[in-house]
Amino acid sequence: MSAQILDGKAVARAVLDETAERVAALKDRGKETTLATVLVGDDPASAAYVRSKRRRAAEVGIRSVHHELGSDVSQDRVVGLIRRLNEDPSVDGILLQLPLPAGLDDQSATIEIDPAKDVDGLHPTNLGMIVLDRPVFAPCTPSGCLRILEHYDIPLTGANVVVVGRSFLVGRPLALLMAARGADATVTIAHSRTKDLAGVARRADILVVAVGRPEMVTGRYVRDGAVVIDVGINRTESGSLVGDVKYDEVAEVAAAITPVPGGVGPMTVAMLMHNTAVASGMRARR
Ligand code: NDP
Repeated sequence: MSAQILDGKAVARAVLDETAERVAALKDRGKETTLATVLVGDDPASAAYVRSKRRRAAEVGIRSVHHELGSDVSQDRVVGLIRRLNEDPSVDGILLQLPLPAGLDDQSATIEIDPAKDVDGLHPTNLGMIVLDRPVFAPCTPSGCLRILEHYDIPLTGANVVVVGRSFLVGRPLALLMAARGADATVTIAHSRTKDLAGVARRADILVVAVGRPEMVTGRYVRDGAVVIDVGINRTESGSLVGDVKYDEVAEVAAAITPVPGGVGPMTVAMLMHNTAVASGMRARR
């Protein structure tokens, strides 16, 4: 079998087009949409992520206002900036690029963001709303994975889903969203202490892998005809990108698979733009 490719770039394009329409409609009603981006330190990967987010924002008509702080900045200065952005009526969404440099605390900075401006969906209030089955801003990577499945009409109801990885950023919220009423999947969360991971993964109709280990999941982890979503982004020594799934081998077994690059990655940025437009709409209605 040769798997269908689940083209994240195409799905992201659809989300961005829909977002551009939403932003334009708000603008027609006099509401501009603004995303504040905050980059702390000089990590080149973080800087590149922020640049690409700002580029996408410009493409869909979202104004982005960028703030940079040095790597030697105190936690208080980061929090001070977030509080100013919370109070600023022109700001609809706040993106604090994580991870923060060593010595600063991601979670105590994130908790300062006004939940109504938390377009990354990582504030405990927004994560808690997922537990309550009433998501407002879901984290961008998990909601991007769901959007890919929805776009390709891959049903979740009653499906056996195995999510490998339990981070608060990806695995855990994704598992909750998939098990929620309305999505109705039967979800197993696997992690580094799971016994017989390959055996557990082989029970999946839909296997999601978010572990951060290059090409760890090989063909023997995948049941014939399963759908495989590879969240991993790993840079090899030669500089190319690979996922957490050994693509060529798994594509022979799976019915459908997301590639890396061009799978979940573009969806994460697209869902950030979607969330920012939703935040702007909510503020416009106030
Ligand atoms: P974390 O490091 O926070 O979490 C990794 C998870 O994988 C942990 O739960 C860990 O288990 C589990 N794990 C690690 N090794 C194994 C193993 N050998 N067997 C089973 N489980 C294992 O990573 P993230 O969730 O932040 O990211 C995961 C991957 O997704 C990375 O490659 C990252 O780059 C990528 N990513 C991609 C995004 C995108 O836009 N496409 C966005 C965010 C992340 P335990 O809890 O037991 O330690």
